[in-house]
Amino acid sequence: RGVVVAIDGPSGSGKSTVSRRIAAELGLAYLDTGATYRAATWWCLRRGVELSDTDAVAATVRDMPLEMVTDPAGPRVVCDGEDITDAIRASALSAVVSQVATNLEVRAELCRLQRAEIEAEATGAPGSRSAGRGIVAEGRDITTVVAPDADVRILLTADEQARLARRAKELHGTADAATIEATRDEVVRRDADDSTVSTFMTAADGVTTVDTSGYGVEETFHAVLALIRA
Ligand code: C5P
Repeated sequence: RGVVVAIDGPSGSGKSTVSRRIAAELGLAYLDTGATYRAATWWCLRRGVELSDTDAVAATVRDMPLEMVTDPAGPRVVCDGEDITDAIRASALSAVVSQVATNLEVRAELCRLQRAEIEAEATGAPGSRSAGRGIVAEGRDITTVVAPDADVRILLTADEQARLARRAKELHGTADAATIEATRDEVVRRDADDSTVSTFMTAADGVTTVDTSGYGVEETFHAVLALIRA
């Protein structure tokens, strides 16, 4: 059976960048679970569903024809035959994704989908990307809900200032006072909303915390790699 690495953290903790690099380094598949919530949001908007209508949202997500391409060299999200990898990063979508992600029926459905993906890569099911070597799955409830039995469970944290600066740089190319302020809603408000359904700000039992506040990508990468090889 292949290795399952579960990595959680808030926005700006560096989890996506580092998870991708770890997966590439070790020849594992890479699953960005946040992208499944973003895809669900995109699909509901595309279908004209009112996001506050929880029953309609849940029913729509159950019928979502989603394909996650788990190649760490080029992860892609395909829905209904359309490549939505870039579309799901739009700030208008980021602003409303928590509305869909706090829908408990949606969580149950996407959790099923994520577990199936993880299981396929861990067992080397036909068509698995890693040929059974395993997978790095990252998000906000992977260490606790989706894959609590994962071989390695890590929570990446960083103080608010560091997380805001990283996100500002990602979104605006620079992290000055103005762009950091413009990023505050996207990071702080979204994490507060998401915290109502997941506990990704503190580590659960058996989960190792890595504080990345003073770290660059390289240092975080090596810290996580050392934990996996330990
Ligand atoms: O990681 P990313 O910012 O792309 O995640 C987008 C959204 O997906 C989060 O704001 C959260 O609402 C939701 N999410 C979640 N559980 C996860 C991963 C993401 O609720 N495991």
